[in-house]
Amino acid sequence: MNSVAGNSVRIPASMHSIRSEQICQRADGIIRRLQQAGFEAYLVGGCVRDLLLGLIPKDFDIATSAHPEQVRKLFSSARLIGRRFRLAHIYFGRDYLEVATFRAPHDDSDEGHVNDQGRILQDNVYGTLEEDVWRRDFTINALFYDPVTGDVLDFVNGLQDLRQRELKLIGNPELRYREDPVRMLRALRFAAKLQCQTEGETFDLIHQLGPLLRGVAPARLFDELLKLLHNGTGWKSFRLLEAYGLLPYLLPVVAESFKQERSGGMFRRLLQASLENTDKRIEEGKSVQPSFLFAVLLWEKVQRLMLQELDDHPELQAIQLAANDALQDQVQVTAIPRRFSNITREIWGLQPRFRAHDLRRVNLLLNHPRFRAAYDFLCLRAQAGENVQDQVEWWTALMAASHEDRLLMCKPSGKKRRPKKRRSAHKALPVTVLVD
Ligand code: ATP
Ligand code: MG
Repeated sequence: MNSVAGNSVRIPASMHSIRSEQICQRADGIIRRLQQAGFEAYLVGGCVRDLLLGLIPKDFDIATSAHPEQVRKLFSSARLIGRRFRLAHIYFGRDYLEVATFRAPHDDSDEGHVNDQGRILQDNVYGTLEEDVWRRDFTINALFYDPVTGDVLDFVNGLQDLRQRELKLIGNPELRYREDPVRMLRALRFAAKLQCQTEGETFDLIHQLGPLLRGVAPARLFDELLKLLHNGTGWKSFRLLEAYGLLPYLLPVVAESFKQERSGGMFRRLLQASLENTDKRIEEGKSVQPSFLFAVLLWEKVQRLMLQELDDHPELQAIQLAANDALQDQVQVTAIPRRFSNITREIWGLQPRFRAHDLRRVNLLLNHPRFRAAYDFLCLRAQAGENVQDQVEWWTALMAASHEDRLLMCKPSGKKRRPKKRRSAHKALPVTVLVD
């Protein structure tokens, strides 16, 4: 039977499915040390939710009554981060675990913490465990687990919601979305990942409140977009974004591409093939690249702009100009770091080069650091119905061929390069150094 302690419902180990051996040793060690120092400390959020569902948690987050400074004093490898939301990272080499102090609600006199649309700007008022529950987003994310006693603490009926796959915001749903519009994206992500029902206020409100996402920092939206599309259920998440009308606020270029509808569904097929393929790669534990994702998402626009540029520019230049425009439109909404967008440009820039069959250019392309990504992209284009199937077949055969067969497949290079004449030393122009 569940025993009620204060307002909380303590669920003992015998009544839930989390086993101590599933807990990350480092997190367990941190919690024990905090508790021995007289603080409360628990695992919280996504890891408790995922363990209860039998999934492997992405990370183990810790919540404690210790203030960030107190955490720092206890752990020599702790670093304090965040201004809007101060917390401690405890490092183990390059890895770290996140330790957050319980937060309390702000009282009404503290007007500076929200903006005029109700968005939270500051959240550094510390509180108790019971208070911390109410600032969390969904009931299924507000479960605490104490690895020392084995109890789960559930103040909001989160366990029942989890069993019924119901995603419920804690408190007034509209207010909670206004406080932080990213919660709408989190709702869709959890719906896709945890196969939650999508009925009810949590989801209905998104149709209406989507425009609030315009006020969210582009760097945060970039992170959330990756979490949505690179979490193993990317295609499902994408369709939810579309169904709930959020594409214009997160992927305006894609929304525009869908409106163009010149391509007879080809672009949608490209997205589906690519996102399903990404989901499969994640399931197999393979790496996935943000640069590739953006190459796909912006491709229709790049092609459309390129056709216009071709009136005045040669092909390779036209594609780079189109790339600049398409990326610029997307970067304003989701800040794509340059290290990714530069590779995206390369993937696009290599596409016309797959038409080449002469030996020199074939070798150059094969040895290009982005060859594999560009080839995979070409395959997806063919799969979506673009007229590049011949190229895919030729390059696939080339990659499987022996060195001799490759030479037979390729045309000899047109012009032979003449060796550069060396300018002999005595003919070098004298360097004039001007001295005042
Ligand atoms: P995952 O890590 O699997 O993506 P998560 O729920 O752990 O999911 P995190 O971003 O790691 O997500 O956040 C940890 C916990 O912090 C959440 O479970 C939730 O309790 C709380 N949280 C995170 N983001 C918000 C938010 N925007 N509003 C309120 N609470 C949040
Ligand atoms: Mg997490």
